Amino acid sequence: MRRKSKSVLGIEGTAWNLSAAIVDQSRIVASAESPYHPTYGGLHPRAAAQHHASQIERVIRDVLAEGERAEISAVAFSIGPGFGPCLRTVATAARALSLSLNVPLIGVNHCIAHIEIGRWLCNVKDPVILYVSGANSQVLSYRDGKYRIFGETLDIGIGNALDKFGRYAGFQHPGGPKIEETAKNAKHYIPLTYVVKGMDFSFSGLTTAAKDALAHASLEDVCYSFQETAFAMLVEVTERALAHTGKEDILLTGGVGANTRLKEMLNTMCQDRDAKFFAPDKEFMKDNGAMIAYTGLLMLESGATLPVENSAVRPNYRPDEVEIGWR
Ligand code: AMP
Ligand code: MG
Repeated sequence: MRRKSKSVLGIEGTAWNLSAAIVDQSRIVASAESPYHPTYGGLHPRAAAQHHASQIERVIRDVLAEGERAEISAVAFSIGPGFGPCLRTVATAARALSLSLNVPLIGVNHCIAHIEIGRWLCNVKDPVILYVSGANSQVLSYRDGKYRIFGETLDIGIGNALDKFGRYAGFQHPGGPKIEETAKNAKHYIPLTYVVKGMDFSFSGLTTAAKDALAHASLEDVCYSFQETAFAMLVEVTERALAHTGKEDILLTGGVGANTRLKEMLNTMCQDRDAKFFAPDKEFMKDNGAMIAYTGLLMLESGATLPVENSAVRPNYRPDEVEIGWR
């Protein structure tokens, strides 16, 4: 009989996308998800956690049914960063599953998972990473056993900034994709607050400036100017990290990475510097179960499993705290 490849079941649920996947050493074997989209307002941690609690049994059943032939070697879950109530809901399910299958438990840092799935799917070894999602915005790169943060937001993540402005402008959550669509019909660029301090950036002043600008400019022009200003800040810092590290590749990840204009601006910068630009399919840039399962597999192979009694969630877990034992 052919020997089965090691498989890990991973569960993601730090914020909006409750999702699970099974990954083996060569491919994504199965996946299932239940995204939470509020009908009114933004993401409320308790409401999102209630959604996750009501859907997690179905999501796990679906992924196990689709991956019925996989032999699960470990259960991985996103242990942080994220909303406390959401993290605890997912962690409880992951612990129960690991105990019932009698396999090890693995606590995955959500940001590291965004990076590792991108490196895997794009086949890029040692990039400078621009990680842009709802709550997080960071420029990172690997050195000496850790992903180091070269620059990050001083206040809110770029996705949150887009979503907050979007809600004010009358878009339903999440605003990011609607802002991108609306920006395509702009006629003018309006200067807005541009904040880069050292290698860090900030988005809350820009969000306020964009809200104020709606009093005298069209929605299309403000959406366009918001994107141009925010993305220029991100590209500036990413370019400086590239120059500083002397690396030759850029990897984009996180839900905001779906944005075509951001990819275009990064691509232009890369062409100017003779660097290569990589971005996985948007299904794997947004929050997804496969990134947790795949990083879980890397961690399993490097021995980074977690006793249940030490598996408390870490809502503020930073990616530069993680010892990278697999590189
Ligand atoms: P994540 O938490 O990584 O799944 O990212 C979610 C964030 O991505 C939300 O803030 C969305 O508004 C944002 N987002 C998704 N698609 C786009 C897009 N096309 N342009 C800008 N932001 C987007
Ligand atoms: Mg994320």
